[in-house]
Amino acid sequence: MITEYHRPDKLEDALDLLARTNPLTVPLGGGTVLNQPSDQQVAVVDLQALGLNLIEPRGRTLSIGATVTLQALLDASKTPLVLKAAIRHEATYNIRQVATVAGALMAADGRSPFAAAILALAPELTLQPGDEKVSYGELLPLRAEQMPGRLITYVAIPLDVKLAYQYVARSPADLPIVCAAVAKWPSGRTRVVLGGYGESPLLAMDGPNPQGADIAARDAYREAGDQWASAEYRSDVAAKLTRRCIDEFEN
Ligand SMILES: Cc1cc2nc3c(=O)[nH]c(=O)nc-3n(C[C@H](O)[C@H](O)[C@H](O)COP(=O)(O)OP(=O)(O)OC[C@H]3O[C@@H](n4cnc5c(N)ncnc54)[C@H](O)[C@@H]3O)c2cc1C
Repeated sequence: MITEYHRPDKLEDALDLLARTNPLTVPLGGGTVLNQPSDQQVAVVDLQALGLNLIEPRGRTLSIGATVTLQALLDASKTPLVLKAAIRHEATYNIRQVATVAGALMAADGRSPFAAAILALAPELTLQPGDEKVSYGELLPLRAEQMPGRLITYVAIPLDVKLAYQYVARSPADLPIVCAAVAKWPSGRTRVVLGGYGESPLLAMDGPNPQGADIAARDAYREAGDQWASAEYRSDVAAKLTRRCIDEFEN
């Protein structure tokens, strides 16, 4: 339950509020998660007056402000087309109008197409205080431990990278049971991320070329069984989807 609401217009004021532990104070992006009923009492710092809602190309990267909504990112001309497909798959139009990029990355579980696609792109996140640059891959497993008192302000993704995204779901609009997001750099560097299972998307491979990507995907989901699908099924499908992504680059 939200017990206090603040809307600062300076980053320093937001960070001062977030440094409080009593009451527990957390950033509010779109609020689609934080507004859901909960027994935990929290004070929230609404980020919408901080001017973090810009999408700006900077050389070979795209800088995305933390409070850019998923719909604004989908509508932006510079957003890679495959990332747009993952955003469309992430949530409905109404949710996309409200949910923010940083909120989605912080709240993502393993079934998030957006988090899987972003993780494949090896984004650099800017955290405050300290203007620290971290990779999303480093932050993902430590979100609960690392984030109290801290704020994502920007997410930077490379623009000179090819991205492919493939998924299997119960219906086209449903979240994936298995998905693969594969990014390939001009140098040949290839990152394979799997989703559809567990607490967060999983980096299955980050190598100098695509060789062995499908085998890495098969291995990474070898134990990915739950009520939705057996591990054997996920492992097999992960390998096939990864192969299809690689084939997209080669055709
Ligand atoms: C009806 C409904 C349907 C939904 N459907 C889907 C769905 O189909 N697929 C799906 O994946 N999700 C779905 N969601 C979940 C949700 O929409 C997404 O996870 C959303 O992207 C969260 O973004 P937000 O900005 O609203 O986050 P918020 O609720 O504002 O915040 C989420 C978390 O991120 C933290 N946070 C926010 N901004 C920052 C920041 N800048 N720095 C650090 N931490 C931050 C918050 O403190 C909180 O812990 C749904 C939610 C609702 C209410």
